[in-house]
Amino acid sequence: MTSSEWPVTSHSPLVTSHFPMRWFGFGTALGIDLGTSNVLVYQQGRGIVLREPAVVAVTRSEGKLAAIGEEARQMLGRTPGNIQPVSPLRAGVIANYSVATAMLRHIIDRLCGRGRLVHPDVAICLPCGATGVERRAVLDAAHDAGARRVYPLLSPVAAALGANLPVTAPQGSLVVDIGGGTTDIAVISLGGMVTGGAVRVGGQTCDEAIIRYLRREYNLLVGERMAEEVKLQIGSAERLESELTMEVRGRDLMDGLPRTVRLRSEEIREALTEPLTAISDKIRQVLEGTPPELSADIMERGMVLAGGGALLRHIERFLSKRTNVPARVVEDPLSCLALGAGRYLESLRRQEGAWEPTAPSVTGG
Ligand code: ADP
Ligand code: MG
Repeated sequence: MTSSEWPVTSHSPLVTSHFPMRWFGFGTALGIDLGTSNVLVYQQGRGIVLREPAVVAVTRSEGKLAAIGEEARQMLGRTPGNIQPVSPLRAGVIANYSVATAMLRHIIDRLCGRGRLVHPDVAICLPCGATGVERRAVLDAAHDAGARRVYPLLSPVAAALGANLPVTAPQGSLVVDIGGGTTDIAVISLGGMVTGGAVRVGGQTCDEAIIRYLRREYNLLVGERMAEEVKLQIGSAERLESELTMEVRGRDLMDGLPRTVRLRSEEIREALTEPLTAISDKIRQVLEGTPPELSADIMERGMVLAGGGALLRHIERFLSKRTNVPARVVEDPLSCLALGAGRYLESLRRQEGAWEPTAPSVTGG
């Protein structure tokens, strides 16, 4: 996705919230999961239409958007002087407003067409731990990027909808969304969050723990991408049926020269214990604050894990051991939230009675 002509600083289109109701069924609807690591979009009637790393490349001189997503990620660590990769989010919240807005605008333009007449309605996931100001920033960014109406949705609620849990029933569900920089935990009942919490620990924290381990045990310096690769290839939270090994290249901290070491999955598991324990401790804390009726539901039905971090081998075993609550990973942990956000919008449209299944959606891109 390249777009050199859209300035990152260009300004907000009109927010057309006064469109008459009959327009409602015509505009397209997008469910957006704007994560620290990945951005996913569900488009009504089409399913997941976009899945890209949350990275934007910006030209230093003019602050223009040069690339987004995978293309921008490839530039990380190997860019010429004029192009700078930027992550618009940090720990689940917007760290760079203009870049986040530019990325959202790029996505909306691509999916809905630049010369569109009707702006899309957008449901967007928010982390539980975000402050009022941080939430406002996400909603404003979506408006500024060209959304018509913006509906916020807590990420565990989106995950629950994406996983087809009985969200609106008077029944407790415990949902844990393990993202790149944060883990969001919520007990959901009757369509809302009853108790919840967040901890600034996620997949990237695990990568950092691997970097520290290699430095401490092997005097070896590796980058973030190599550390993530180690986690994906041999990382685990509990003992594996057959343990794995991997060769890792890095720079020796003593003589500064390149060196290769062979790592065992047992070692990486040891390195990951600390961040994973921080997650299980937070879940325990949320459980302690849960009303007893809902606790009984959770004990019976277990907790549900979503987000990319839920893909770590045997994380469900680790968390269920530490919390005494059975755990299972949702079907597609990476897409689950965007899917849930899309379903949320669809249900809102049905409630408004303006749902027209045969209406053409305005797409031009
Ligand atoms: P965010 O919502 O913050 O964008 P995601 O839910 O997209 O985060 O998850 C991204 C995290 O998931 C990254 O830290 C990535 O390393 C991790 N991840 C992705 N796949 C796997 C896997 N197979 N095993 C372990 N971690 C994974
Ligand atoms: Mg996420």
